[in-house]
Amino acid sequence: MTLFKDKFSIRKPIRLGIVGGGQLGKMMAFEAKRMFMKIVILDPSKDCPASSLADKLIIGDFSDKQKIYELSKEVDIITYEIELANATALNNLEDSGFLVHPSPKTLSIIQNKYRQKKFLRENMITVPDFELVSSEKQVMQYCSNSGFPVLLKACEDSYDGRGNFLIRSKDEITKALNYFSGRQCMVEKFVNFKKEISIMVARNLSGAISYFPIAENIHENHILKTSIIPARISKETERKAIDLAIKTTKSLKGSGIFGIEMFVDEDDHVSINEIAPRPHNSGHYSIEACSISQFEQHIRAILDYPILQPILLSNAIMINILGPDNYTGPYEITGIDELFTIPGAKIHVYGKLETKPNRKLGHVTIVSNNTDPLLIKCNVEELLKVREPSFQI
Ligand code: AMP
Repeated sequence: MTLFKDKFSIRKPIRLGIVGGGQLGKMMAFEAKRMFMKIVILDPSKDCPASSLADKLIIGDFSDKQKIYELSKEVDIITYEIELANATALNNLEDSGFLVHPSPKTLSIIQNKYRQKKFLRENMITVPDFELVSSEKQVMQYCSNSGFPVLLKACEDSYDGRGNFLIRSKDEITKALNYFSGRQCMVEKFVNFKKEISIMVARNLSGAISYFPIAENIHENHILKTSIIPARISKETERKAIDLAIKTTKSLKGSGIFGIEMFVDEDDHVSINEIAPRPHNSGHYSIEACSISQFEQHIRAILDYPILQPILLSNAIMINILGPDNYTGPYEITGIDELFTIPGAKIHVYGKLETKPNRKLGHVTIVSNNTDPLLIKCNVEELLKVREPSFQI
């Protein structure tokens, strides 16, 4: 690609369009601004986290075709931080020769969990067993072959575990199907995993591939709470996971970074749970702990710059700051003074105006080679609290 290579023009900076102005868009924009690029963001909210870093904000829905076309008129290349981006509009742009990365063809596969798993299976990539279902009889049939529990998953618009229903016995089948009434669903074998891990893999337009150190992920209520880096797995499991992640990336079209989430089961078998065609929450640690962040790697990959293998500078732990269960509205985060007494601690506050149960409001990364990561996790959770503001807003 000749459009950007070796060109960092001050008079005519690279103009990067990002669909989505959430925390991922914000951290991506931050890196792009450091390299003097222009940022145009499409997001429904004028107060979205990335708004403070955008040179221009287009207010509109991610699914709004016209807004995506409007975005394309302002920038040299479009990427996205959210799977809800309108894949048809992006695809039309790509077909007309406009640069969109990762390829919208990949996005449309990933947008639907069934299509994604089917694609992976067809490419000989290990995934838990699954089947598309539309009736109680089909779920029953699947369960009688596989045994309980199984997961019923809504195929679309489901993220952070919101689209999963655990079926533990035949009595729960009706309830599960009713829960997703009217939505396309699949059943998936429940993996009795001993660890969840993820790898961020980048590929640039020239085809070079690099990957970040493996993160071990702890979910609470189906939402990522903590990542420990490097993952506490054997060398052999690490090799298997890296090979699987690279094979997965090679099967996908387009450049950029891919967050590849995996299960490691009791027998150390590794299978893919899900792919994100974008930077991922479990890769945030790279900002402080690696020689390059996942966000810069993504930008380099889509602009076809070299993407060297990231070096892990320090072990790290990342802890998400999530909205409490029992409160929706304006909020404050307390305990930051104490957090700053922990060596190696960095807080990221996304700037969302309101909290909701389990909403990702920020995260803390602690770089440390010496301390037990789970002890750090407990400390941070003790210190940082999200609550209704004690002052009048
Ligand atoms: P998902 O939104 O499908 O990535 O799922 C969110 C979380 O649900 C995962 O991170 C796992 O903790 C859990 N999960 C998803 N699929 C399975 C599975 N087949 N077996 C066991 N747990 C699962």
